[in-house]
Formats: sequence, structure tokens, C-alpha cells
Amino acid sequence: MFVRPKKKLGQHFLTDKNIARDIVNHLKAQNIEKVLEIGPGMGVLTDFLLENNDYETFVIEIDHESVVYLRQYIPRLEGHIIEGDFLRINLAEKVSDKPFALIGNLPYNISSQIFFKVLENKDLIPEIVCMLQKEVAMRIASGPGSKVYGILSVFLQAWYNVEYLIDVPPHVFDPPPQVQSAVIRLSANGRTELGCNEKLFFRVVKQAFNQRRKMLRNSIKSFSPRVEELDSILLTRRPEQLSVEEFIDLTNNIERLMTGSQEQGVLSREN
Ligand code: SAM
Repeated sequence: MFVRPKKKLGQHFLTDKNIARDIVNHLKAQNIEKVLEIGPGMGVLTDFLLENNDYETFVIEIDHESVVYLRQYIPRLEGHIIEGDFLRINLAEKVSDKPFALIGNLPYNISSQIFFKVLENKDLIPEIVCMLQKEVAMRIASGPGSKVYGILSVFLQAWYNVEYLIDVPPHVFDPPPQVQSAVIRLSANGRTELGCNEKLFFRVVKQAFNQRRKMLRNSIKSFSPRVEELDSILLTRRPEQLSVEEFIDLTNNIERLMTGSQEQGVLSREN
């Protein structure tokens, strides 16, 4: 019996066991007790995860047919299968309220959403090893100055060191995807505070990259009418040139301007 691949669930099953072993071996899993695999499918990674007794392996799978398959062919997983949607579950409740590692050959159609969920739970997730579309992997791993550096690169690199590990060609999957794949590892960089208003940081980074070809002068002016008071060289730069630290500085500067302009507003109303 095999699971019938379903396109809408991003099901491309890895058929090369050497690559599967290699992916699992890239997991360091230091100082953690549990590993959660997203989307085990027919368990090609799960088998190798279960060989390691240093951690307990859990899986979350949305596809009922895959869950039935796993129960039948990997009986050791019993009690460790969460049938559900990774994007919707409460990780602290269903997996652990202590830090755990994530691994998976991700469903490519929702990989960005998976990373946003990781960011929401960053304190719980110190390490992630995953396979995803090569283009997205390059984007996440690239630094300032690169054409593919973007929102997700900044958000993730604020909290994680990202390593681009291996390229994986389409023919080792069934069915083969139409894109190249790659494996990356994200390891918590030890930062516990951003050093700026986190919500504003998210808004500033998003706003800047939504107009990535524009100079910051134009893309951030909606935050305050006083942006011209910022450093003139900074204002001529484009978002793809700014490091995480520079986005943090920019956020602090914008917050100062915003607070200032609010005070002015109150004063002028009182006059
Ligand atoms: N790990 C298997 C492998 O390497 O052959 C399957 C990988 S396949 C690319 C992605 C898997 O994620 C599928 O099994 C799919 O059913 C599952 N999946 C898709 N969306 C999901 C979601 N929201 N939550 C949990 N699993 C999901």
C-alpha cells in the first residue's frame, strides 16, 4: 500500500533514502528532548529520526491517508502522531512547552506560512532543518546586497543563523516537483531581544520591501512626515542593502520620529 500523492497538500515523496538520512543527520538537536517532523507522508525521514534515541520524535500530518499508512507501517510512532494542520495547532499545548527542534520536507505551497508560524513560536523552536523550494531556501539564506534578500530573510535572520546545506534535484521525488529543492538549517542565534519595538520592526521591514526598488525616503514616509530628518545617506538606500542591525536602527529612529510627531500633534491641538 502506498499513499496516493495529493497535489493540493504539496505531496512529493522523497524516494532517495541516502538523502533522507543526510537531512536527518544535519539535525544537531542539542539540549532538546523532542523533535517534531512536519508532514511525514510515508515516513522516509521519520524512520531515520526514530533511530536516534537522544530525542523523542513526534510528527504532524494533515493527510488522513498518510496517518493510516504511518500507523500501519511504523507502529513505534503510536502515540506520537498528531493528525492536523501545522499552521493551526497550538505547539506549546500539543507538542511541548519546552524548546524542541523542527524538521521536515515541507509542503512547498505553505512554506512561507510555516516560517511565520515558526517566528511566532521562536522561543520554543531553537533549530529547524528543512527541505523546501530552492528559490525560497536561497531567499531565506541570503544576506544584504543580494537580489533575493527579502522580508523573510530579515525576519528569520533576526533570530536565527541560516545555513544553506544541500541542493536536491526533482528526480528523487515521486512525483517530481517542477522546481529544484534545497535543504537549510536555522539555528537560534541567541538573541532574546531585538533592541527595538518588534511590531514596528515588522511593519518597517514589510513596508520597505513592498517597494523594494524605491529608496527608503519614499518607502517609509508613511510612518512620519518627519522622515527627512533622518540621515540623508540612509534615506537614499534601498531595503535590500540593509542588514538586520540597520533595520533595527531604522525602526528605533522611526519610532523616535513617530513619538515626536504625536507630541507635536497634541501640542498643536492644544494651541
Ligand atoms: N516527508 C515526506 C517525504 O519526504 O517524502 C512527505 C513530504 S511532502 C513534500 C509534504 C507533506 O506535508 C505531505 O505528507 C503533506 O500531506 C504534509 N502536509 C501538507 N500540509 C500540511 C499541514 N498544513 N500540516 C501538516 N502536514 C502537512
